[in-house]
Amino acid sequence: MDMKIVKTETKLCTCCMEEHEVKTVLVKEKTTYKKKIIEYNATYMFCDKANELYMEEGQIQENDISLKDAYRISEKLLTSKQICDIRKKYGISQKDLCILLGWGGKTITRYESHQVQDRAHDMILKKIDQDPEWFLELLEESKEKIQPSSYDNYKKKAVSFALSSSKERILKIKAFVASVSV
Ligand SMILES: [Zn+2]
Repeated sequence: MDMKIVKTETKLCTCCMEEHEVKTVLVKEKTTYKKKIIEYNATYMFCDKANELYMEEGQIQENDISLKDAYRISEKLLTSKQICDIRKKYGISQKDLCILLGWGGKTITRYESHQVQDRAHDMILKKIDQDPEWFLELLEESKEKIQPSSYDNYKKKAVSFALSSSKERILKIKAFVASVSV
């Protein structure tokens, strides 16, 4: 078995119920998800005494997200972390981003973990990532539904992001113009 040790620590081993050195290991797993064979890294604990792999609390969920992210990558969908990073770019809460997009209140929370987003929602998130002006439009439309202090913070972030991305766009256009006008 392909097993990589990532950490070793002395603690109560919940496999044999004794205190000893327990290893945290990464194991390459292969499983079928949505009719596709997916390879992903799963995290386990390893007990040398019983020669057994076992999961601790949290690892079931962590491994489930790891599988879903490997599937997302194979389908060219955003990973849970990329979705989280897009949201953090605007400093917006999971709940408020759902309000802006007109999605159910827990949608983003689920997409940032185990639930694979559908392609239409994936495209919307990619657009939000690239288009601060659109974010600002959506924010205006939802103004009444959001706390005034949060609204101000989101707006500030999006405006500064819009300014820096429009500078980048102007530079790209200038470079393009320079390259064709020779
Ligand atoms: Zn043990």
